[in-house]
Amino acid sequence: MQRTLARKTLNKVGRKVLLKGWVDTLRDHGKITFIDLRDRSGIVQCVGRDLAKMANESVVEIIGEVKKRPENLVNPNLETGKVEVEIESLVTLSRAGEVPFPLDSDGLEIEESTRLKYRYLDLRRTRMAKNLRLRSKAVQFIRNWLFERDFVEIETPILTKTTPEGARDFIVPSRLQPGKFYALPQSPQQYKQLLMVAGFERYFQIARCFRDEDPRADRAYGEFTQLDLEMSFVTQEDILALSEELFTSLVKKIFPEKKIAKVPWPRISHKEALEKYGSDKPDLRKDENDKDELAFAWIVNFPLFSKQVKEDFYHGSGSAKFAPSHHMFTAPHPDDVSLLNKDPLKVRGLQHDMVLNGYEVGGGSVRIHQPEVQAKVFGLIGFTDKQKGKFKHMLDAFKYGVPPHGGIAPGIDRFLMAVMGEPSLREVIAFPMTAGGLTSVMSAPNQATEEQLKELGIEVSISQKS
Ligand code: ASP
Repeated sequence: MQRTLARKTLNKVGRKVLLKGWVDTLRDHGKITFIDLRDRSGIVQCVGRDLAKMANESVVEIIGEVKKRPENLVNPNLETGKVEVEIESLVTLSRAGEVPFPLDSDGLEIEESTRLKYRYLDLRRTRMAKNLRLRSKAVQFIRNWLFERDFVEIETPILTKTTPEGARDFIVPSRLQPGKFYALPQSPQQYKQLLMVAGFERYFQIARCFRDEDPRADRAYGEFTQLDLEMSFVTQEDILALSEELFTSLVKKIFPEKKIAKVPWPRISHKEALEKYGSDKPDLRKDENDKDELAFAWIVNFPLFSKQVKEDFYHGSGSAKFAPSHHMFTAPHPDDVSLLNKDPLKVRGLQHDMVLNGYEVGGGSVRIHQPEVQAKVFGLIGFTDKQKGKFKHMLDAFKYGVPPHGGIAPGIDRFLMAVMGEPSLREVIAFPMTAGGLTSVMSAPNQATEEQLKELGIEVSISQKS
């Protein structure tokens, strides 16, 4: 007998079905027991007589006949509420112990580290399962939309050299090159630019980025996912238009209940945003309590540099006076190039930020494609010759015919958190880290074994931070 999914029982009144799934809820009325059986498609009520004792969340197999429920017993809250399955036989495939927290609430009331420790159970709750399914749909939509427009999806290395976006790198020791380390990419920024040099013209990747910076509700610790995108022979206008069309269509298709406040999205200069809203990621919703309003906006005309604030920006350029507002590959406005020598803080950059309901959900820019301008920017941000040497491959690549190019990288987690109105990024990520940097369920990081350290030629001596 073939398995029937819970949701499909609706069309099978009068037929015998084989169901497989989890005991979602159990109501034991003595002789008669009601089981809500849950599988990937939903829930269906099953009714049995004289059933053996069983526990919630056990995995069972049920054979029974689908019956129409009498009018007065129809459950309007259940998709399959018009039917129920009369159990003929029930086999327990896996008995569940007592679960550590309730699974029938939205889960936000439960202590988060406990939810993350048992994430595989936490993901059973309706809200989390729905979030992850919507995430998958959104990513599928993005892929298809971009493929239809001639984009190529290309994976770039995870074990690589530093690709700075202004955060601390994660580093991985090399066994074959003892004493040397790979860095995990803070974004695929350099690779996507190199792919433009290679001639792909339209690239995207659902890319994992790694940044060792302090966590906040809208910033995941450790790793997060971006839709990384780059195009050749485009203007800033082309990048904004394409991104706006992509995200507007995505919302219409995947989140039809949401209303985009203004189309086309408002464009606000960085200066105006600060003056008028006191923020470079203003929340433009008319009513912040309207959970279905999505107020997208573009912030443009950023200064190329800000005054150096961080001591150690980009690994030790402590003497620099200027830090890039976006990153060091962002092009200066063509009318301002001459100011690079005279008054760098006056130079506008071709940066664009995508803002949604008060979150910065993405950033990007038109890139520098002239090696001499890139070298100049390296100088202004205070790179020593040694530091410049780390990016020599970019200057080299730019000697061999580089198209003008630019792109953007909207954060998938952050976009979904904002659209779904979730309080934290962790509500849209399957296995996020805790705020303290421990992975869910497995509690990494762990100590390496003696053998591993020996192979790597590494000795560990931990100095306690005071
Ligand atoms: N690499 C940039 C970031 O991660 C995005 C971009 O400039 O395309 O923010």
